[in-house]
Parts: sequence; structure tokens; C-alpha cells
Amino acid sequence: MARVLVVGAGLTGSVCAALLQGATRERVCVWDKARGAGGRMSTSRSALDAACTADLGAQYITRSAGQRGRFYEELLCHGILEPLSARIEGLMEKEGSCDYVAPQGISSVVKYYLRQSGADVFYEHHVTHISLRGGKWEVSRKMASPELFDVVILTMPVPQILQLQGDIVNIINERQKQQLESAHYSSRYALGLFYEVGARIDVPWAAKYITDNPCIRFISIDNKKRNIDSPEIGPSVVVHTTVTFGTEHLDSDPAEVQQLILSHLESLVPSLPKAASVKCQKWRYSQVTKAVPNCPGQMILHTQPLLICGFCWLFFFLIASNSFGTSSAFGKYTSSYRDSVGNSAPSPL
Ligand SMILES: Cc1cc2nc3c(=O)[nH]c(=O)nc-3n(C[C@H](O)[C@H](O)[C@H](O)COP(=O)(O)OP(=O)(O)OC[C@H]3O[C@@H](n4cnc5c(N)ncnc54)[C@H](O)[C@@H]3O)c2cc1C
Repeated sequence: MARVLVVGAGLTGSVCAALLQGATRERVCVWDKARGAGGRMSTSRSALDAACTADLGAQYITRSAGQRGRFYEELLCHGILEPLSARIEGLMEKEGSCDYVAPQGISSVVKYYLRQSGADVFYEHHVTHISLRGGKWEVSRKMASPELFDVVILTMPVPQILQLQGDIVNIINERQKQQLESAHYSSRYALGLFYEVGARIDVPWAAKYITDNPCIRFISIDNKKRNIDSPEIGPSVVVHTTVTFGTEHLDSDPAEVQQLILSHLESLVPSLPKAASVKCQKWRYSQVTKAVPNCPGQMILHTQPLLICGFCWLFFFLIASNSFGTSSAFGKYTSSYRDSVGNSAPSPL
């Protein structure tokens, strides 16, 4: 049986794996270098109490005006998403758009699609090299023997694709290299503060955007933002720094960065009690500030065997809902499979 490898267990990788499950009979593997699912949609647990969690990356999923609803309706129906109802000070609402939160943590969205995919998911699988071997892709990872795959789909941030070694370095042509190199991401830190059951956080908002602090851009009472204000679970707070602070401190000592953020937090919210545990997360590639130009959602690096970069979960979802039809490499790949086996069943998305 042919093997497909999806690199990255974030939202793009998980949606892609779920789509493949509906479109091919091939064995799909997902590899991620992290210890769990989510990527930038990560949910962290308190080191002292696993029930106390905080979303350190994405906070909401926003459905823009005019966007088709199947993705959101499915997740709402399964209780994975709920409309954002808590008070967020300074949130800029766009007309016709709608924000959703994930009560079980934002990584539950990714986990939902990984479950749907039925793929073999492996963590702590850090891909380092991709090379051609006898018509297949030989994929190497840290501290393990390489494995062969028929198709490889890369879903990590673009600068991490450009760090891969092996034949891929020469396979990416000069024009593609220029396109990929022009993508840009912001950098920022996130702090998760976890409290014991019964700790009280007396502020009149669930989250707040800060506009006049050099370090802090956003504070969220995370359990309140996610509609889980329960007396049995300790509260949690999430702090996102400004991009300027994140960029300036990218290579600073993490303990010093944590202390700096905490001291700004204390000046902004003096009533905040001392946390039982704290996690500091550096997002070197946080949000896309400049997308890969002339490249809607994907880039084909090689056709036989197939090697694709997928930049955006929404792109795979649009293929699934036929908005892109078979005009993309991924659409062609999945539809040619469906044609060959006479299976026109819709994808699970
Ligand atoms: C602080 C912050 C706030 C955000 N807020 C929002 C928000 O409110 N709403 C919103 O919609 N979006 C938000 N975003 C953006 C959103 O999180 C991302 O757009 C989305 O999660 C990207 O998903 P992805 O699967 O494309 O990439 P990622 O989530 O980055 O997934 C890529 C995966 O690839 C893995 N990986 C990387 N290199 C390798 C390798 N060599 N080998 C194996 N695995 C590898 C990584 O570990 C990661 O899990 C935010 C992001 C951050 C960081």
C-alpha cells in the first residue's frame, strides 16, 4: 500500500489528513516534532493540575462574512467550538464575522481532525532531510532511520520548510525559493499562568487588548474566555506580548523574558494573585504578516513523486468543499484516486 506523509500536526496537517482519509485508500502518517498535537493551536496544561489549561497560541477561530459554514457547523455540532460570548475589551469585530472559542482548548479542534483522519500520528518525529530514492521520498528525522513515502505534504511555517536538508534544497527552484523567502511571520511570546482551584481573579472582562504597554498586547482569563468558569477547575491566564517585544527578545534568556512579562503584567493587573505555575512559550513564527506571493494555499515542489507545501488549513477545506475543484495538485491527486477506484464519496469535511 502506498504511503503518504503529512509533516505537521497543526490545523493544516490535521485537516489535510482528514481530507486524505476520505479521498484515498493509502496509508496516511502524520509526523510532528512536538510532544503533542496543535502546533500554533496549542493548549498547555498546568504542571501541577492537568485540568487547568490555557490556549497559548490561537485564541479564537473567526468565520468571516460570506465564508461557507460546513467546517464551523460540524465543530459546533460536536461541541468542539462555541460562539465567543465572553466580554473581550478592544476586540475589533468585522461586520458579518463571527468568533468561536473551543471550551476544551483550541487544540481540541486539531485533535478532532486527527481522529477523523484515522492516520497514524507520531510525535517527537523531527523531519530533517527529504531526498529522492528510487522514485520515492526518503524522509529522515532526528535520531532515527529514514523511511520511504510515495507522497509528502509539508505544513510547517515556511521558514521551517526552507531549513530542511537533502535533495529538497535543489528541488525547490530559484523562483519558488524567492517566493518562499519573501513570506514573513511575526514573533511574540506567550505566558500561561495556572492557578489553584478556588483562586479568584477579579476583573470585569474575560480578555483585553492592551494598546499602551511596550511589552503586553493581550491578556485573557482563559477559562472565562472559553466559557468554562467552573469552581472545580483552577483559573488560567494567558498573556501575549507585543510583536516589538517578541522580536527584540527572540534570543534572550527565557527566564529573564518571563520575569519581564510578569512585572509588566503586575503593573497592568495589580490584583492578580500569584500563579501556582507559569509556562513561557516563544513563538518565533507566530502569525503570517506576508503570505507567499502568487500562491493560493499551496506550492507544488515536485510532481512524480508528489511533494507539496500546504500553507493554510482553509485551502484544504476549500478543496474539500470543491471551491478549488481539481485545479490544485492536491485536488488532482485526490480526485484522480477517486476516479481510479470509482469512489465519488464526499470527503469527511
Ligand atoms: C500567539 C498566536 C496567536 C494566534 N491567534 C490566532 C487567533 O486568535 N485566531 C486564528 O485563527 N489564528 C491565530 N493564530 C494563528 C494560528 O494559530 C495559525 O494560523 C494556525 O495554527 C496554523 O496552523 P498550521 O497547521 O498551518 O501551522 P502550525 O500550527 O505551525 O503547525 C505546524 C506543525 O509542524 C510542526 N513542525 C515544524 N517543523 C517540523 C519538522 N521539521 N518536523 C516535524 N514537524 C515539524 C510543528 O511542531 C507544528 O506542530 C495565532 C498564532 C499565534 C502563535
